[in-house]
Amino acid sequence: MREPLIFEKSREDRRGYSLPECDVGRKGVEKLIPGNYLRQGRLGLPQVSEPDVVRHFVRLSQQNIGIDTNFYPLGSCTMKYNPKVNEDIAQLPGFTRIHPYQPEVSVQGTLQLLHQMEILLCELSGMDRVSLQPAAGAHGELTSLMMIKAYYENKKEERDTILIPDSAHGTNAASSNFCGFRIIEIKSNESGVIDLDDLKDKMSQKVAALMLTIPNTLGLFEPGILQIARIVHNKEGFLYLDGANLNALLGIVRPSDLGIDIMHFNLHKTFSTPHGGGGPGSGPVGVKRTLAAYLPVPTVEKNSKGYYLDYNRARSIGKVRSFYGNIGVIIRAYCYLRSLGKEGLKKISYNAVLNANYLMQRLKNYFYLPYDQPCMHEFVLSGKDGEMKEVRTLDIAKRLLDFGFHPPTIYFPLIVKEALMIEPTETECKETLDAFASAMIEIRKEIEENPSAVKEAPHNLSIGRLDEVKASRQLKLRW
Ligand SMILES: *Cc1c(COP(=O)(O)O)cnc(C)c1O
Repeated sequence: MREPLIFEKSREDRRGYSLPECDVGRKGVEKLIPGNYLRQGRLGLPQVSEPDVVRHFVRLSQQNIGIDTNFYPLGSCTMKYNPKVNEDIAQLPGFTRIHPYQPEVSVQGTLQLLHQMEILLCELSGMDRVSLQPAAGAHGELTSLMMIKAYYENKKEERDTILIPDSAHGTNAASSNFCGFRIIEIKSNESGVIDLDDLKDKMSQKVAALMLTIPNTLGLFEPGILQIARIVHNKEGFLYLDGANLNALLGIVRPSDLGIDIMHFNLHKTFSTPHGGGGPGSGPVGVKRTLAAYLPVPTVEKNSKGYYLDYNRARSIGKVRSFYGNIGVIIRAYCYLRSLGKEGLKKISYNAVLNANYLMQRLKNYFYLPYDQPCMHEFVLSGKDGEMKEVRTLDIAKRLLDFGFHPPTIYFPLIVKEALMIEPTETECKETLDAFASAMIEIRKEIEENPSAVKEAPHNLSIGRLDEVKASRQLKLRW
């Protein structure tokens, strides 16, 4: 189904609505707006009828594989189903019609929601304070590192190093580098978790923090976490939690009990905001008391008169985001938390872990499982196996599209060759998991019997395999 560009559908003077001529003369416009700012020619917008507009965009949406149409086991990204009640609440006019410059007395409801959201995230994590300002996980990392940096500067202590495990998400290193830190990599051992001896060797008074993901990107819990915390704290460094994998721990493990000092949450992942098109996200940062003074401004506070935004914080690192943060995501996440409640949140993690282990058991006899042990909310297979012929993980991912599944994350984490990182999430039923397992097993058979069917996939989509590099190097906007 070839879908032309909306500009190619355009026909002179075709339109959806005809508005009456404007009865306010244009005379005087030139006096108000300097001539060089006034448009000379026509605007050049596409001219199409309303049905053409609707069909164009609905067709485009049907060419996409999304969480509302298909299973989407994209490891590390937590592509769970997003309850529609979140959308209803986020669209209440009381939220959508406020202006960020409105006086605080007139936005008490929104401030109350933000204040309560901080309390909920503190309760879940055991942190003492949370800032809702950062706009994504990576932004939360950067904000946290800026706070850690400010803390040591204030103490006049020189610490220029961040420790990061070799299994970490690329944003950990990127944020550290961006913040001016030196990075030292910590090795994983043969079980896929932190090598404690390597950590002991590399931990020193030069290290500002160890950034840890729990469960890690192999979907494995760090069994040595309490020892890790001791090693870091003995040298007075901070233990940072990349909270992107919180979906495995909700209501079961509090990061503070593991020795975490500072962390970020990915509200768009764990707390169900539609994401994946590049945003919007929200990456609140939680801290123990030691770091609370450094939180970005404003914080949301409450006194006898009501809620207010506090900009007057002497040691704050300053602003990291305009206004309230990505408020739409925060409202959705708040609605999600409140609609599930304490017991509901625990069930999320139990079922996320159960689903991942079920799929892992169904697939491990067909694909190589490099770390063969019970997993948390995700697991990593490898497309590298003696009998895989010429087929690569990318080919398996493309072939899955023909079966109506969004592929898993591929080629990450970097410590697994030809990685296939599968995160089913708690929102999928057994029938869906079974259908996915059957498709994977079918593809495994094809690799034996007819590998070119896999190498040349996808076969059933409106668009075949794209040259991804060409698309970004030679941007072509016309058909
Ligand atoms: C998604 C993710 C991040 C980055 O979060 P964004 O919200 O995408 O910026 C960091 N670490 C891990 C493990 C992740 O999965």
